[in-house]
Amino acid sequence: MSPFATLALLAVAGGLFAYTMARRVAPLFALRREDRTTRPLERVRGLLRFGFGQRRLLDPESRGPGILHVVIFAAFLVLALRTITLFGMGFARGFHLPLLEPTSALGSTYGFLKHLMVLGALCAALAFLWRRLVTRPERLTLSFEGNLILAFIAALMVTDLLFDGAGMVASGEPTSLRAPVSSLAAWLLRASGLSAGSVAVVGEVSYWTHLAIILTFLNFLPYGKHFHIITGLPDVFFRALPPGSKALSKLDLEAESPRFGTRTVRDLSWKEALDLYSCTECGRCQTHCPTYVTGKPLSHKEVNRALRRHLVERASDLTAIARAKTEPAREAAAALLPPLAEAVVPPDTFWACTTCGWCETACPVFIENIPRLVDLRRQQVLVESSFPDEAARLFRNIETQGNPWGLGSNRRTEWCEDLDLPRASEGQPFEYLFFVGCAGAFDDRQKKVSRALVSLLREAGVSFAILGEEETCHAEAARRLGNEYLFQMQAAASVEKLNAYGVKKILVQCPHCLNTLKNELPQFGGHYEVVHHTELLAALFSDGRLARLRGGAPESASVTFHDPCYLARHNGIEAAPRQALAAAGVRLAEMPRRGREGFCCGAGGGRMWLEEKLGTRVNQNRVAEAALTLGEQGGVVAVGCPFCHTMLRDGVNETGREETLRVMDVAEIVAGGLAGAPPTARTPGGGS
Ligand code: SF4
Ligand code: SF4
Repeated sequence: MSPFATLALLAVAGGLFAYTMARRVAPLFALRREDRTTRPLERVRGLLRFGFGQRRLLDPESRGPGILHVVIFAAFLVLALRTITLFGMGFARGFHLPLLEPTSALGSTYGFLKHLMVLGALCAALAFLWRRLVTRPERLTLSFEGNLILAFIAALMVTDLLFDGAGMVASGEPTSLRAPVSSLAAWLLRASGLSAGSVAVVGEVSYWTHLAIILTFLNFLPYGKHFHIITGLPDVFFRALPPGSKALSKLDLEAESPRFGTRTVRDLSWKEALDLYSCTECGRCQTHCPTYVTGKPLSHKEVNRALRRHLVERASDLTAIARAKTEPAREAAAALLPPLAEAVVPPDTFWACTTCGWCETACPVFIENIPRLVDLRRQQVLVESSFPDEAARLFRNIETQGNPWGLGSNRRTEWCEDLDLPRASEGQPFEYLFFVGCAGAFDDRQKKVSRALVSLLREAGVSFAILGEEETCHAEAARRLGNEYLFQMQAAASVEKLNAYGVKKILVQCPHCLNTLKNELPQFGGHYEVVHHTELLAALFSDGRLARLRGGAPESASVTFHDPCYLARHNGIEAAPRQALAAAGVRLAEMPRRGREGFCCGAGGGRMWLEEKLGTRVNQNRVAEAALTLGEQGGVVAVGCPFCHTMLRDGVNETGREETLRVMDVAEIVAGGLAGAPPTARTPGGGS
């Protein structure tokens, strides 16, 4: 050991590391500011659970590699103390950290744990190498960098063992179960017949190799995907918290110089840049991504790689912007940056996303992909006027008629003309405002669902009213397609109306309405308790208010439930539709991809209104899964979303399965029992 050599190593490697880190961090100061420090306790809890606890790596689908990753992560944490000790030994041979004296109880416990971790990390690194070199799973990026890092880890463990083993031989320390792995190394060294001098050389070489690898490893990290070892935990800490994580950001269109989404790398926020640094390229985001799975040119892993490369290439430009003294100087430098669309992220990529949320749910470091893609769309729509023709039609329809089909707004209540439904404008008290939604009011198939739901509300004596012709589209699809202007206009109109009637509780039959009314209208001063109809039906069954229908559904067998992304994934509502169906007597056959791991129907993110020209069709992929689940006899695909309803029905027709598969809403299945239900006295107080 040599204090001079240790100090020189630390100074050179530390200096290099500080230089690289400064070059990685400096550009972030030129990027958009975002406050990610609110609710610190919640952030710390998430950090412990998802960062240190590695929760998302242990999902059932990739539990094996997840466990290996957890072992390596735990080893890094435990061996951090060992690393400090080893560097300390460079200055004083017997160095140990306070409280970790080898003869103390704590020191020997730590020593034993360290042995287990070294062995665990060595085995995990070798298993990962086997996976990358032999089994080669499709979702991984099989880069040289990954293999090199694993080789570094394996070499670190081996050199640690050899150093310890050589020390045991030199001191004559007997092998011991308290130091099992070093004992094995010591036994091997003794068995090798090497002289004491040679064993000492082995120990010395192992020691310096170990330190050199650590410092090389450290300096290598910021240059590739393994930067996540440094940025991953901060990225989890600064993650988006609900409801913001379920809502798109509100653009300040009234600002002096408003931002219209993302044009260049400078429009990204510092958090988005941190996301790019943190992408591990694990590919979990694409396992159930409907666009990737069906052959569209969108892989978040690849988008992240491209953006990260661009960010690093433009680091000096961004640093110059951050250092510019005046706003005009900053803007002049920023104008030289190339647009991201086309050169870095091809438009087919960001128009393909259905915003289903799988990628964000799966990502172990909480990378926020959807807002980044929507911001690219916003720039195309609000500034470049470059967007699909079908989107233009949708925007026009909403703007002129207040619904995506462009049907006369005066036809909004045709579906319920004979039902004599109470209107909020009548001034009578009601518990729920039934927000029917555009599909529920204008789509012929969904109108039947609206009517089924009304019959159930009346059966249960639920007090409700509708807005009638005063209801208008909230333009969720337009927002996700990038038309923030239109969305803000429609959202503000909806809030104004709902607040004018003092609405507290809203019942919806569409998960997109649910998400927007619950999570996005608060941006406009609308704060409501929003309930999906399957939640209300489950509650009504459990309160005994639908007792007549218990077990009464004619569709009692061969039913599978398709989880809408905006219900299960974005809003965590998985149990309620199943509870409602079970109460109605339905025995569900579950699809392999279900709940939060469900597979999108292809309609979200405004994709319902766009042609699907690339790859295979998402809806057909889902219908094939439903058909496989229900078997040759077929059955019913239950849904809880008008857009899933349309997409899956189309999928059934497109694949010629009309004879065997039917698509029905949960409300229709439950209401099917009304026909066979024994007559009972009408519950008073219903919205009739
Ligand atoms: S975005 Fe997340 S899930 Fe996808 S490759 Fe990167 S780290 Fe993995
Ligand atoms: S939100 Fe869904 S469709 Fe969009 S990239 Fe993520 S997984 Fe794919």
